[in-house]
Amino acid sequence: MAVAGIAQSADTSYLLKPERVFDGENMHNNWVVLVKGNKIISAGEAASIKPGGLFITIELKGKTMLPGLIEGHSHLLLHPYNETKWDDQVMNESRAERVARAVVHAKKTLLAGFTTVRDLGTEGAGYDDVGLKASIEKGIIPGPRMIIATRAIVATGSYGPKLNNLDNDLVRGAAQADGMDALIKETRTQIGNGADLIKVYADYRWGLHKGISEPTFTLEELKTVVAVAASSGRKVVAHASTEEGMRRAILAGISTIEHGDNGNDEIFDLMIKNKTAYCATLSAAEATAQYDGWKKGTLPEPQRIVTKRKSFQLALQKGVTICFGGDVGVYPHGDNAREMEAMVEYGMKPIDVLKSATSVNADVFGYGDTIGRIKKGLFADLVAVDGNPAENISDIRKTALVMKNGIIYK
Ligand SMILES: [Zn+2]
Repeated sequence: MAVAGIAQSADTSYLLKPERVFDGENMHNNWVVLVKGNKIISAGEAASIKPGGLFITIELKGKTMLPGLIEGHSHLLLHPYNETKWDDQVMNESRAERVARAVVHAKKTLLAGFTTVRDLGTEGAGYDDVGLKASIEKGIIPGPRMIIATRAIVATGSYGPKLNNLDNDLVRGAAQADGMDALIKETRTQIGNGADLIKVYADYRWGLHKGISEPTFTLEELKTVVAVAASSGRKVVAHASTEEGMRRAILAGISTIEHGDNGNDEIFDLMIKNKTAYCATLSAAEATAQYDGWKKGTLPEPQRIVTKRKSFQLALQKGVTICFGGDVGVYPHGDNAREMEAMVEYGMKPIDVLKSATSVNADVFGYGDTIGRIKKGLFADLVAVDGNPAENISDIRKTALVMKNGIIYK
């Protein structure tokens, strides 16, 4: 499982010969993929590809080749809450420990075939995702490409950790900002420090109504963040699970709704109209419920899971663009495939889940010209798995080859 010594530089050419190729949109038999340096040179029918010069042939009999998978919602700086509660991770773990863990998480993620992550917030670890991303890009540590949110933005008082003694001036899980001037400043600060996108919390469980999510920012506040981010070419994503939180986020022009537990006909129609994508994070909801004592398959589903399933299935039925993202970190890094299995279990076709985790995520996140497809000119981010995940989604776990930027890691 160590970083393979096959090629530490991306100068080598490879002719990859799998059983079948999923190019990000369709499945093809008898295709081969030619890689030179860090790019895909060509992909297509074996007879039509004529490699010139020196190259290494890799036979991948019985295997399916796919574009490197794109995790849409990760937190590399968190680890499962049944190991350590979120509050304790944020308040009691040193930043050095959190980063050390993130280094391990990054490697596990890459070796599982996830060559890109959209990492949606450091949860109290400041701008440590910026340094983590730089370390991966410099080749110091193995890990996925990172699209990062840095600190994320919350309305004052809405986010944790929270203690009942109000004299405690706590470290926060995200940056607090309110009103136009403060939100403009915070958005620009995060962009200046390295954010590829801005994440806002459009609702959260706050105040005395314990456990119940309620909207946080006003529509005007959300619009301001979107306008400031857009002026530098960046997207905004929103944590939103209430109907009103989702509505405001969509109307403000955010690009993806994270969680979206309480979607309904009106909300999903609005998402289609505004080209807002939906990242359901089914696995995080199931993991959290299980940490709270739910025994899946034995005990009846908790209300939160019933609601989430209904929301996801309605979005699917209505044709909302569905991103793949599980909120991994709540459950173990490297187990990203869990969300793909959950999406199938909740009714999505395996081939559509594969699209979601490759071309759809790449397009929705704004990286469709570089990753997410097996296509001439794109980065050589490739995964080969035993079997055929379009028939059995769990085959996605059987990674036989992982290549990122033309370098073989597995
Ligand atoms: Zn999250």
